[in-house]
Amino acid sequence: MRPTGRLHLGHYHGVLKNWVRLQHEYECFFFVADWHALTTEYEHPQSIEQAVWEMVIDWLAAGVNPGAATLFVQSRVPEHAELHLLLSMMTPLGWLERVPTYKDQQEKLKEKDLATYGFLGYPLLQSADILMYRAGQVPVGADQVAHIEITREVARRFNHLYGREPGFEEAVAAAIRKMGKKQARVYQDHRRKYQEQGDEQALETARALVLGQQNITLGDRERLLGDLEGGGKVILPEPQALLTPASKMPGLDGHKMSKSYGNFISLREEPDSVDEKIRRMPTDPARVRRTDPGNPEHCPVWQLHQVYSDDQTRQWVWEGCTTAGIGCLDCKKPVIDAVQAELEPIRRRAEEHARDPDLVRSIVADGCEEAREAARATLEEVRTAMGLNY
Ligand code: SF4
Repeated sequence: MRPTGRLHLGHYHGVLKNWVRLQHEYECFFFVADWHALTTEYEHPQSIEQAVWEMVIDWLAAGVNPGAATLFVQSRVPEHAELHLLLSMMTPLGWLERVPTYKDQQEKLKEKDLATYGFLGYPLLQSADILMYRAGQVPVGADQVAHIEITREVARRFNHLYGREPGFEEAVAAAIRKMGKKQARVYQDHRRKYQEQGDEQALETARALVLGQQNITLGDRERLLGDLEGGGKVILPEPQALLTPASKMPGLDGHKMSKSYGNFISLREEPDSVDEKIRRMPTDPARVRRTDPGNPEHCPVWQLHQVYSDDQTRQWVWEGCTTAGIGCLDCKKPVIDAVQAELEPIRRRAEEHARDPDLVRSIVADGCEEAREAARATLEEVRTAMGLNY
């Protein structure tokens, strides 16, 4: 997650609740993407530091548990930069230029000059972040799937280029020659059919041919089977996107909850302010007077009832609103109570952590150490595969 400072209910319902669940189901790495923030905030890097700590406090307050998951800050694991650099050598420029968010973001953030090298490379930095931990799954929203796809392509290309031992191609050619002319031709035809057209039957025939060879060694056989499936060793496994359902949490005006729209309730919002913000929420404009009936479908408060209320309460709202049986303040009361109940323990834990910055720093320092250990192991293999361990 990019360091955006204090988080709000949109982050909680859209991301953090999901993390809290995932941390008990998988081995998880959650990190503050501070270098990613630099790709757009490079003119004001001073604002990033505070945003990092505020955000980590909110993670902890929301229930992200350093005992269950590894929490770290990207820039404190400099191995990410080295992997990014090494991957950049073999990543075609066109792959990055075609990432849909590249042009979109440049359009959206017109006030910033994003015609930079760092901004173009940002999806590749993200690929390095993922591949570093050999992640099987990456929790993302639908808008990030293209980034996982490019990560898969980068991994595939890396494995193809460097997952083979030196002299692999020559050894395969020699093994094919040992098959004899006729058998070698049949093998190559079938290999081509599988690799170019994905013909599984051809793969089976070619594999049977290799297994039936008497003239080749065991090593030749393994190389041929590896070559047949287009690979060698998998050094960087291809990750999958773990799609998270879109958050239903609306902002106070019914649009997406966002800091830039000013329609949010922060996780550390004071009770009086929560009360005030929900009381002032706009409702169905048809309810000018208390006696005018309304339509919940035209009201953002109704969307909050979808998140916080049970069927019975929602039925009470629907009937009361459409018959003018209840007023809007009556209707908002159960939402206010539910938001207060949800935020109370989060606010309390956040205050505890805010009072103890040393503890927060030491949690992050431990996480960075853990992450570095995993990162070093991957980089060691990457360097060896590329012949850079001299
Ligand atoms: Fe909205 Fe509730 Fe008022 Fe109906 S009664 S307009 S749902 S706040």
